[in-house]
Amino acid sequence: MSKFDQARLGTKAVWGGEKEYLVHGATQVPVIPSVAFGYDDMDEWYDVAIGKKKGHIYGRNTNPTVQAFEDKVKVLEGAAAGTSFSTGMAAVSNTLYTFLFPGDKVVTIKDTYGGTNKLFTEFLHKLQIEVVFCETGNQKQIEEEVKKGCKMLYLETPTNPTVKITDIKQTAAAAKAVGALVVVDNTFATPVNQNPLELGADLVIHSATKFLGGHADALGGVVVGNDESLVEAIYHYREINGATMDPWAAYLLLRGMKTLDLRVKRQAENAMKLAQFLQTSDLVEGVFYPGLSTHPNHDIAKEQMKGFGGMLSFSVKGGVDTVRDLLPKLQFANRAANLGSVETTVGPARTTSHVECTPEERAAMGIPEGLIRVSCGIEDAEDILADFEQALKAVGYPVQA
Ligand SMILES: *Cc1c(COP(=O)(O)O)cnc(C)c1O
Repeated sequence: MSKFDQARLGTKAVWGGEKEYLVHGATQVPVIPSVAFGYDDMDEWYDVAIGKKKGHIYGRNTNPTVQAFEDKVKVLEGAAAGTSFSTGMAAVSNTLYTFLFPGDKVVTIKDTYGGTNKLFTEFLHKLQIEVVFCETGNQKQIEEEVKKGCKMLYLETPTNPTVKITDIKQTAAAAKAVGALVVVDNTFATPVNQNPLELGADLVIHSATKFLGGHADALGGVVVGNDESLVEAIYHYREINGATMDPWAAYLLLRGMKTLDLRVKRQAENAMKLAQFLQTSDLVEGVFYPGLSTHPNHDIAKEQMKGFGGMLSFSVKGGVDTVRDLLPKLQFANRAANLGSVETTVGPARTTSHVECTPEERAAMGIPEGLIRVSCGIEDAEDILADFEQALKAVGYPVQA
């Protein structure tokens, strides 16, 4: 084992996956926008084209800047193989469409990301693929469904927006026993807080648009795993359907990832402080954060996560009307649909993660109309807390002493 393998995550985030891409003495990975890569030697060209020799042929297949991005994510997740995509949804859909065929069954949870949920409810059934939705956080139900036999167990933990937790280790073991593939969307946790491969997952997905990039200025997705043949199969499907990551996006995401460890730890600290603060407000009905001992899956979160992450949500009295009054009063927050950025970002579930659902459907999923999702930024906690305090006061509900 090299010294680098033993380095901690913050060090790996800075140095990981870059070395072989540094040319001309550059200390930073260059953007190589070239669409094609030329060869004077016809035999060498052929060897690269058939995969016998390392190299690049055409940008839809591979690109050095994009590959550096993949290599850094591989280092962070401790994975042997990885491939990237134009967006997180491309990573999700390519993974599903690579492995699922008519007659196959997927076991998943009710609270997957909105777009992922749409794939399950709207698109997969056209291919006669059966999807079984379990209560998120109900380990027993997930295990029982998996034991009946399935091709894939698809998890996401923590979930959007009520940050529910599923036990990856236990449900993955049940899936392994029936020969099912275990796929985990690790976007919310990030590799700083959770390593699904260590807990039994075969494939780990990220929307790199969120925490990995961290600056809300580039779209991207990635899948990593230890079985190279699985990742190769997804790569092959992607090189043909063309959902390729752009080299400029790869550069921004690479730059963002250098500070991943710093950012995510600060975001988790801020989230914990904000969650505790919100619990003291008369206006707040409930606070959802896996770091709180009141969270129903706090014990599992403590077991499988190294930190509780930067995402939380809370519900306010007065529902939509209060949300409409409260959110514009925040000074240090973007009111927007994204998450994982350095700026604190807030939004109601009814306009962000669950915009496609009816109020009744949201209620059935345990999402009150007055639910506000907060992606904590890296601002000073004192300022975030003071900002929420003044906003709550301004809508007429002072915080209890
Ligand atoms: C945003 C998100 C996605 C989709 O990623 P895009 O980059 O927006 O396509 C998938 N899963 C989770 C958990 C997300 O938050």
